Amino acid sequence: MNERCPFCAIARGSVTADVVLTTDDIVAFRDLNPVAPVHVLVVPVEHVTSVSALEDTELGGRLLRTAARVARQEGLEGSGYRIVTNHGPDAGQSVHHLHLHVLGGRPMHWPPG
Ligand code: 5GP
Ligand code: ZN
Repeated sequence: MNERCPFCAIARGSVTADVVLTTDDIVAFRDLNPVAPVHVLVVPVEHVTSVSALEDTELGGRLLRTAARVARQEGLEGSGYRIVTNHGPDAGQSVHHLHLHVLGGRPMHWPPG
């Protein structure tokens, strides 16, 4: 846990968020500033700074499966969705607690900006 991390605060329940799914070690909640009709963040309860620092391969697998489960729960199975994680300045990472963005509900551009 990191005292100044917003996602640690959400994971431990000291800051409120619109939580859509929780498991033993993962929390999924709606992004505060959504960029698509569905924009959910899937985060490990444990503070991991980014995918670059992720060592637990089983947790990584669970994060991915949970993101797919969230997409299904949000009704995106047929229309499609995108799962994104940002690391570092070029990718625009702004919160240094690993999170998967689940985006859907509109057509996505490729390549991303
Ligand atoms: P990044 O740019 O690091 O990949 O994504 C961080 C995301 O977290 C952004 O989309 C931003 O809107 C979202 N975010 C930042 N702070 C909060 C917060 O306190 N609550 C929620 N729900 N989302 C947040
Ligand atoms: Zn954290």
